[in-house]
Amino acid sequence: MSTSDLAAKIRDVPDFPRQGIVFKDIMPLLGDAAALRAAVEALAEWAEPRRPDVILGAEARGFILGGALAYRLGCAFVPARKPGKLPWHTVSVKYALEYGFDALELHADAFEKGQRVLVHDDVLATGGTAKAKVDLVEQLGGQVVGLAFVIELGFLNGRERLAGYDVHSLVTY
Ligand code: AMP
Repeated sequence: MSTSDLAAKIRDVPDFPRQGIVFKDIMPLLGDAAALRAAVEALAEWAEPRRPDVILGAEARGFILGGALAYRLGCAFVPARKPGKLPWHTVSVKYALEYGFDALELHADAFEKGQRVLVHDDVLATGGTAKAKVDLVEQLGGQVVGLAFVIELGFLNGRERLAGYDVHSLVTY
């Protein structure tokens, strides 16, 4: 399945969750068995040579392909969650979104020192979320070996926020 086949499974939802935002909805992609497998395989192909030990996925859509990617690569999976959801000691970071502010938390013991971490999410928009995750990983002693997304909104220049890191996305707008 080609990149344009995958792109055909991404739905544009205008004015969600706010006026002026075009939401990139990956549910049609997840709902198609062949597209789901192709997306996981394409992410895995890029990630594998970077030899990650752990996939870090952010709540909530980063859990879906992130979990599949971890299984496919034989990696562990660490969830970055919304505040108040994780039961153990946490570290947290607040960041700006394309549409507002948000915060994420990780368990303080999520990584062993020097572990190789691949950050995954469905969409790279302004890069604020991804940079927040990078900062948390590094604060906890992990090493970010790459960031892999399904979708990149190139016009929001998220890559600039992630300068110096290895960034990949399957479909760029
Ligand atoms: P950012 O921090 O701006 O890179 O935003 C990335 C996060 O917000 C990801 O978790 C995305 O799921 C979500 N997001 C931001 N913009 C969009 C969009 N246009 N469509 C879908 N998700 C988005």
